[in-house]
Amino acid sequence: MTKSYVFDPPIPPTVAVAGEPGRFPVRRIFCVGRNYAAHAREMGKDPDREPPFFFTKPADAVVDNGTTVPYPPETGNFQYEIELVVAIGREGFDVSREAALDLVFGYGVGIDLTRRDLQLEARNKGRPWDWGKAFDQSAPIAPLHRVNGGWHPAAGRIWLAVNGAVKQDADLAELIWPVPDIISILSRSMDLKPGDLIMTGTPARVGAIVAGDKVIGGIDGLGEIDITVDQPIVRHSLRVVRNSLF
Ligand code: MN
Repeated sequence: MTKSYVFDPPIPPTVAVAGEPGRFPVRRIFCVGRNYAAHAREMGKDPDREPPFFFTKPADAVVDNGTTVPYPPETGNFQYEIELVVAIGREGFDVSREAALDLVFGYGVGIDLTRRDLQLEARNKGRPWDWGKAFDQSAPIAPLHRVNGGWHPAAGRIWLAVNGAVKQDADLAELIWPVPDIISILSRSMDLKPGDLIMTGTPARVGAIVAGDKVIGGIDGLGEIDITVDQPIVRHSLRVVRNSLF
């Protein structure tokens, strides 16, 4: 019997793939906390080699390159974090470091948009990070580049500029936990599946953005991402009533 739904299920969120029409369907988004020493220090933490920790964003937080992202609600400290994104294309559970890269479909440039005030409040109160990290449109991701000829980015410039001024400027070689380690460790806790994305952490010099700011970032070999920050969303409570399903 065919499954039926009480209303049409949403179209799966997707990320563009460079040079081809097919899009990458997103299953889950895992994010690595503090994976560059200088960023760990600026967040007031000791960058020793503790095991990496993870948080998540909902799959529908992804937005395309070129999006004008609204200034999110409930924050006065909206920040950028440029990150290498790993796209998983094969299932794997408890994979070794040596086999980890076999799971990778490709790589991209992403921005882990953050409501820093809510994240730090949650951190300081021992609460989950979701409200600081997992809000709507919090994961702009540029077109993914398929693994090509066995090339996996392990070094290369990662940078971000706001209104033309470079803010973040580092090298992927500075990752405390490189991609094979991250995949292997994550796969001990989760059965990784095609469609999973991993945002691998941001280098130092994160900072605030406001409405009207133009944010551009890039990673050597993976192209660039650009977004613009829009005014906050104005809520129309009547719209909810009009679109009510019940
Ligand atoms: Mn991040």
